[in-house]
Amino acid sequence: MKMNRRDFVKAAGAATAVGLVGVPHIAFGASKKVVIVGGGTSGATAAKYIKRLDSSIDVTVVEPNETYYTCYFSNKVIAGILPIEAIQVSYDGLKAHGVTMVKDKAVAVDAEKKVVKTEGGKELAYDRCIVAPGIELLFDKIEGHSAEAAEGAMPHAWKAGDQTRLLRSQLEAMPDGGTVIIASPPNPFRCPPGPYERASLIAHYLKTNKPKSKVIILDAKSKFSKQGLFVQGWEKFFGFGTDNALLEWRGGDDHAVVRADPATMTVETAFGEEVKGDVVNIIPPQRAGAIAQASGLANESGWCPVDQKTFESTLHKGVHVIGDAVIAGSMPKSGYAANSQGKVCAAAVVALLNDAEVGVPSYVNTCYSLIEPDWAISVAGVYKLGADGKIADVPGSGGVTPMDATPEMHKREVEYAYSWYDNIVSDIFK
Ligand SMILES: Cc1cc2nc3c(=O)[nH]c(=O)nc-3n(C[C@H](O)[C@H](O)[C@H](O)COP(=O)(O)OP(=O)(O)OC[C@H]3O[C@@H](n4cnc5c(N)ncnc54)[C@H](O)[C@@H]3O)c2cc1C
Repeated sequence: MKMNRRDFVKAAGAATAVGLVGVPHIAFGASKKVVIVGGGTSGATAAKYIKRLDSSIDVTVVEPNETYYTCYFSNKVIAGILPIEAIQVSYDGLKAHGVTMVKDKAVAVDAEKKVVKTEGGKELAYDRCIVAPGIELLFDKIEGHSAEAAEGAMPHAWKAGDQTRLLRSQLEAMPDGGTVIIASPPNPFRCPPGPYERASLIAHYLKTNKPKSKVIILDAKSKFSKQGLFVQGWEKFFGFGTDNALLEWRGGDDHAVVRADPATMTVETAFGEEVKGDVVNIIPPQRAGAIAQASGLANESGWCPVDQKTFESTLHKGVHVIGDAVIAGSMPKSGYAANSQGKVCAAAVVALLNDAEVGVPSYVNTCYSLIEPDWAISVAGVYKLGADGKIADVPGSGGVTPMDATPEMHKREVEYAYSWYDNIVSDIFK
């Protein structure tokens, strides 16, 4: 007997409590269309998992870049521990799963007409759209700074690829005895431990290659992710807190960088202090990617409100938003969180397109940071949907590396970090 779509959905709905997770690959007549804006961590995950859950769904990813550079592990490239090729991923794996890649940039998501418009003039019709654009960097929040300055004198390296190469080359060119400034942004921002891992690995590079040099973090925040563990590592490896410290952290409102002069390589803090650097890495304040702003998917906070069970926008029906762009309760803006959201969203979209019940999701995150090549720390979390509809930590789950971890444990965390990287890249892109 041939099953029609509705019979199949009934059977599948009865067979699994989480909607269509684990649905066999059965092609139905007229295929439903999903268009995904952004082939980064969250978008690529959603694309692959929709195909795995229901191969009959037509999945198109709009992405301007030919290949993807992961931000995760980009700090290792900046410090010269890995070559840039180590963080470059191709889209061949997604194509092999049956995903259509459109090399173009989306300029509008029209939720009324259910169409994504691209810079190249395409109009891609969808039944459901997933917007996964990552972040927009707000250069204009720092007087004197600009996108052009970031292309030259003061890179951000907060989107990987050319920016990663640029910051690396500036560090290589810097004389021994130079100063590296890292301006760390206010919350919320992509990868909360990222600036501190970067400072650590740059300090490691300087210690081994240019020992008279120094890293200064000028931070808009008075506290930061895994602070106790970072400070412990900095004291151990870089003389943190001493007169000869290789790494210095100045945090709090007063130390936020408010002005930048690329011509003199000088920055000014809210406190009025001027600091001159030989390498100046400004990580600007952030909000959801530009396409989310242009399509009315972000609210006054700059980020995108969604139903945190399905990631469907609360501002535009039929459009889901995932990854760094989204407001997702207590989940941080990390790659692992983006991957987890991509899977939850994929399952929800497949269920909704098949008129099945959306399952109750759980979400995960782990984030490893290297302080030295043989010394890593981590934070992990498990999340569920609270009664208020917001994603919240599962009490007693997750945690951070213990403060009394042995050197062997820190070394093991390094091995876990490399293995995490291989696994997540394979889970998303292969
Ligand atoms: C230095 C650094 C280190 C990090 N380390 C870690 C780590 O160790 N672990 C971890 O879990 N996370 C880490 N992260 C965070 C992680 O990289 C991000 O959280 C993750 O990439 C977010 O995924 P996303 O899909 O939201 O955005 P992205 O991965 O940035 O993907 C967005 C994609 O959308 C595309 N796009 C944007 N606009 C459009 C448009 N208009 N049309 C079409 N396509 C568009 C972009 O080209 C991009 O490919 C790190 C980040 C940084 C900066």
